Amino acid sequence: MTAKTALAADALLARESAPWQTQLRNAVRSVSALLDSLNLTPADVEHGEPKTRGEDAERAAQDFPVRAPQSFIDRMRPGDPNDPLLRQVLAVSAEQQHVPGYVEDPLQERDANPTPGIVHKYQGRLLLMPTAACAVHCRYCFRRHFPYADNRLDEGALDRAMDYLASQPEVTEVILSGGDPLILDDAALGRLIDRLESLGHLSRLRIHSRLPVVLPDRLTEALAERLDASRLSTSLVLHGNHPAEIDAGLTERLQRWRPASLTLLNQSVLLAGVNDDPAVLIALSERLFEAGVLPYYLHLLDPVAGVGHFAVADEQALAIYRQMAAKLPGYLLPKLARELPDLPSKTTYGLDTLAG
Ligand SMILES: *Cc1c(COP(=O)(O)O)cnc(C)c1O
Ligand code: SF4
Repeated sequence: MTAKTALAADALLARESAPWQTQLRNAVRSVSALLDSLNLTPADVEHGEPKTRGEDAERAAQDFPVRAPQSFIDRMRPGDPNDPLLRQVLAVSAEQQHVPGYVEDPLQERDANPTPGIVHKYQGRLLLMPTAACAVHCRYCFRRHFPYADNRLDEGALDRAMDYLASQPEVTEVILSGGDPLILDDAALGRLIDRLESLGHLSRLRIHSRLPVVLPDRLTEALAERLDASRLSTSLVLHGNHPAEIDAGLTERLQRWRPASLTLLNQSVLLAGVNDDPAVLIALSERLFEAGVLPYYLHLLDPVAGVGHFAVADEQALAIYRQMAAKLPGYLLPKLARELPDLPSKTTYGLDTLAG
């Protein structure tokens, strides 16, 4: 090993052994730092899409700041402006384009918001959002315009959310969502789970989180032990969109970390320029399974203002889905789903239907 590679290996070890909170604090937070870390210049991305320079791109990054942990950037290809992971996090000028039908609150979640931190749209289960913060800012995110409180639910708001939950005896499953609930540290999450466990009508706990994928060191022993010890049947729904996100390091980590009682699932979003290719999505399902994770949902993009450049036409989505179905065993085929306002569940599509 040369002195230089030894240094690089040291830097890598130092980074890997930093606590996840430190890695979170050190996340890359600007277009220029993101491009620098991939040996890209603004000019590299200037000539085609995605464009990162100019007033529109700056406004995009102001409206919804860039954020990506180094561990996620490490899975991108240096020097490739079209890297599918980079595209998910890089602020681009196209976000400022007005696309008809793309609005701030397409899911009308604000109408299903009985008390801060809760979205209750479906029977038997509801979302509890203990934090507005995320480890990574996904440019396609349907929550980018959600009127979150500035930070965590304060104690008073959490008390009111618990009161609401206690008043809904038909709710048997709480879904911790966000923001990203695993931004809470193990102690805070443990206290929240304690409170949920004290509600006798709850039988299941689900955690929707992108953190295990973008920052695998979040998968601590203490988290595994707390989830394993819960009286609630618990599942953790990851969010990965491309097979490059599920690299060997994450696979090994998940295999070692996963408590036997925990069900691991994954949801992804169909995104133009990222995974709008059956070969990519087939590889994603296969890698997830190696890591002990079953594909759950493949979401059609929600028409949120600023994400029109990620849209995949329904016809093409269905063509991709048919090719996935032809090659994958049924248990590795995610449900193709869309969330529409005022319906009792997500809308899923079979191989021969996709309502326009
Ligand atoms: C997706 C979603 C759920 C969970 O739906 P499942 O089909 O049970 O995964 C619950 N509430 C809201 C508001 C949702 O968007
Ligand atoms: S982690 Fe989830 S909630 Fe946060 S920006 Fe990404 S998709 Fe949106």
